Amino acid sequence: MPLLTVYRSGVTSLLWLLSGLLVTPVIATTNDIVSLDNYFSESWSTVDGLPHNTVNAIAQTPDGYLWFATWEGVARFNGRRFDIFERSAVTGLPDSGIRTLSVAQNGDLLVAGSRGGIARVNGHQWQSYPPLGVLINKALVDSQQRLWLATEGEGVVMQTPNGSRRQFTEDNGLPANAANSVFEDSKGRIWVGTRAGLAVIDPDLVLRHPFPEQITSPVFALAANAQQQLLIGTERGLFLLNEQQQLTQLLADVPVATLLPEASGVLWIGTVDRGLLRLYNNTVEQLSIEQGLPNNRVLALLRDKERSLWVGTNGGIFRLRDAPFTTYTSEQGLADNYVRTVMSDQADCVYVGSSRGLDQICNGIIRNIDLSSHAKGQSVLSLAMGQQQSLWIGTYTDGLLHYADGKVIAHYSSEDGLAANEVRAILPRADGSVLVGTAQGLSLIRDGQITTPVEAVALPSPFIMALHQTDDGRVFIGSGAGVSVWQNDRVTQLDFSVLDQAEYAFGFVEDPAAGILWMTTDRGLVAFDLATEQLALIGRSHGMPFDKLFQLVIDEQQHFWISTNRGVLRLGREQALDVVYGRRDQINYELFGESDGMASAQANGGSSPAASLHNDGSVWVATSVGASKVQPARLSSFSAVIPPVVLEKLVADGKHYSLQQSVKLAAGTSRIELEYAGLGYIMPHRIQYRTMLEGFEQDWVARGTQANVQYTNLAPGHYTFNVAASYPDGGWSPVAATISFSIAPHLWQRPLFQALVILFLVALVIAIVRWRLASLKRSELKLKRQVAEKTAELAALARLDSLTGLANRRAFDEAMQHELKRAKRQQEPLCLALLDIDHFKQVNDNWSHSVGDEVLKRVAATLQQHCRDIDSLARWGGEEFVILLPDTSLPLAQEVCDRLRQRVADTCFTDIVPDLTVTLSIGLATLQVKDDGKQLLIDADRALYQAKNSGRNTVISHNSFTSDESL
Ligand code: GH3
Ligand code: MG
Ligand code: MG
Repeated sequence: MPLLTVYRSGVTSLLWLLSGLLVTPVIATTNDIVSLDNYFSESWSTVDGLPHNTVNAIAQTPDGYLWFATWEGVARFNGRRFDIFERSAVTGLPDSGIRTLSVAQNGDLLVAGSRGGIARVNGHQWQSYPPLGVLINKALVDSQQRLWLATEGEGVVMQTPNGSRRQFTEDNGLPANAANSVFEDSKGRIWVGTRAGLAVIDPDLVLRHPFPEQITSPVFALAANAQQQLLIGTERGLFLLNEQQQLTQLLADVPVATLLPEASGVLWIGTVDRGLLRLYNNTVEQLSIEQGLPNNRVLALLRDKERSLWVGTNGGIFRLRDAPFTTYTSEQGLADNYVRTVMSDQADCVYVGSSRGLDQICNGIIRNIDLSSHAKGQSVLSLAMGQQQSLWIGTYTDGLLHYADGKVIAHYSSEDGLAANEVRAILPRADGSVLVGTAQGLSLIRDGQITTPVEAVALPSPFIMALHQTDDGRVFIGSGAGVSVWQNDRVTQLDFSVLDQAEYAFGFVEDPAAGILWMTTDRGLVAFDLATEQLALIGRSHGMPFDKLFQLVIDEQQHFWISTNRGVLRLGREQALDVVYGRRDQINYELFGESDGMASAQANGGSSPAASLHNDGSVWVATSVGASKVQPARLSSFSAVIPPVVLEKLVADGKHYSLQQSVKLAAGTSRIELEYAGLGYIMPHRIQYRTMLEGFEQDWVARGTQANVQYTNLAPGHYTFNVAASYPDGGWSPVAATISFSIAPHLWQRPLFQALVILFLVALVIAIVRWRLASLKRSELKLKRQVAEKTAELAALARLDSLTGLANRRAFDEAMQHELKRAKRQQEPLCLALLDIDHFKQVNDNWSHSVGDEVLKRVAATLQQHCRDIDSLARWGGEEFVILLPDTSLPLAQEVCDRLRQRVADTCFTDIVPDLTVTLSIGLATLQVKDDGKQLLIDADRALYQAKNSGRNTVISHNSFTSDESL
């Protein structure tokens, strides 16, 4: 599972003192410096995702990323994953081989290497410069923003911010055209290390070649110490240039590849073939392959923001750091790595019992205690402090030893009556007696005599792993089948059946303040109330990650440290008590393992004590690889570092977006994934995150150690994503990483569109209503017109004869009244003619009534056609017609009527009835002076009567047979 290959860093005893290398060796103390045994080392290689194992350069950008230059590209590291940048359109580099990295004052990363490729990285943006065409060994941006490039055959190239270039070569006095390093000192001078010595370019760009006699070999590294003195690392040693411009040699015959001076005065030196050197107070220590360095060729060094030291080698990355745990193993001199028991002497020392002996560690010094005289195997299982600082030592196969004043003063074995030689728990008691728990029962040693206080058969299991006695004299016996309590010669069994079937009791710790005896079992942590004798279990159901708990230690900060097969758990004592008393049902814990400085997370249990609290507050744990100690008070210093946080990916519906501000996402985007990283390298897997999506969430959401988050089906709108990181128990990164994005609405989701739709609907409704109203109006008008038409029609019909279309009798009467008045008024003559068809009855009789109708219509039409415009023609009734002839004298009227008579007589009816001739008889009269019209009609009628009698088809005027005075 762990990505990292864990190497044990060497303790001082394995660091070779290379005083022979010193020109002026002065042995000094290193009290101010964390001794190398407190360093925890790890390494990374191509197996872990590095593109190439030669790490040419290391840099850390202000955002927190670590960058590693290799021959196969630059690897950006976030603590968990390497992202590789190589020759591509993104980087613009002509080759993936990267030789140098440098961070400019503005935080940009400068990348340069093979084929003269140069690029600047700002966040996620790469910008490349025209390549030089020759390998660049070193790049540097100086205080004037000028770019200096040390090349492998073209000397040194200076590029000004406006892009112009100037070259310094052998022609300008450079010792060699192969330049390895450039460095700007505090005075703005540019120092150049070449294959054949040192050069310096003054601010006025004058090049000099200082110390041509002293420095003749290749200069690989240039740096300045805390006093601003120039350090010159060459193939043949290390030189120092002081303020008086005097050159001294610090190391001879060491090929220096890279230098890292620190403010503390420590100088780290990466060598070409001797690993890593540390020079402090004229003392040189070495860390090489033997101590776990992947390779002795060290090319790059970096101290990161978390104070870890990164080492780039020919065999990958190596890192030294402070870790919460320090582990003592056989590398440091422990008798064996398989540690069964650790015990503080409550003074300066901790005893470590392993499968091959006993060690005493006092203030970091390991001393082996030789037990070979009494224990052949020297396999130590258990320990206890006896009276006068004496030591009880339980062994695997050799019984119990009593050790004092540097020697074994007593030895008890099964031959002497001990229950067994496998001694797993020792309990010295106030009265001087000692209870001994073995694999086959309990023994009591008093005054050198061994007895059996409790028969093995009285115990549920004779396999005893832990013993404890309370002040009231109760002895708790932890065995392979639960816990027995022995008091007043009576043995009782605690009922573990209610505790998730716990069986093995590995250890006891009394907690007087709580009145509880804590028991570590194979089903969790058991609390035994010493007063009420009630039992409670904190187990898996409360969130504990493992069943099997070996040994509990309560530290000075009131944390529980519990050793397990899979690491060391830390939990709060108050929380544990809250669970016991039912005030909470879940417990929080932290798990420490290999990445925290343990050589192995697998602790050992089954004999006592398997962990121990030391006087300095440290907690010691017996593990399968060494004795690991943690200083709980120092943990806060690890949490004090707050990792910066960066966003790494934005994926929407499977599409990757560049991480610029204000990302615009398409309408209908349904799934958004964000990936982020806390850039902490001490405990990268324990970094906690919290996120808040403004526009969707009101508050932070805890994400645990999950470094990504998904949102689905967000409504269209504008969102800002925030993420912050912290180490467990540490503060949150004050500046959260943020990115804003918006999801476009579909057309129908746009407010304008919605408003337009509403407007359209309103307009439509209005239009429909108006159309309806207009239509109703039209119908009404039409109806009115129709009514008017019908009315007019009816009105017209009322004045017309329906058969002939001539004016009817009523219309004629009106015309007659009108003409009468006019004739009177105007003193004009007025004539009236009555016309009657002759023998019309015969037409009906001979043909039919309808033929008669047709004949009537034809006669009417003929009359209408041939009467004068001023005359008023009307159907008088039946087959009779009447004509009013205004302003017409009787003779003229006689003419008119005769003409009409003639026309009718000439009319052709053959289309109705063949050979029909119709004639008219006409009676004519003229208005007399005193007549109101009645007489006129009578006169005309008389005249008609005359016409009939005169043989028909004739016109007869009334005056022709009367003497009445006419008008
Ligand atoms: P005359 O006037 O020459 O003495 O003979 P007449 O046959 O015309 O006169 P009479 O008064 O005896 O007959 C008139 C006939 O006209 C009687 C009637 O059937 C016919 N008549 C009257 N009105 C209509 C009509 O509207 N249509 C048809 N087909 N016949 C009509
Ligand atoms: Mg008639
Ligand atoms: Mg007639």
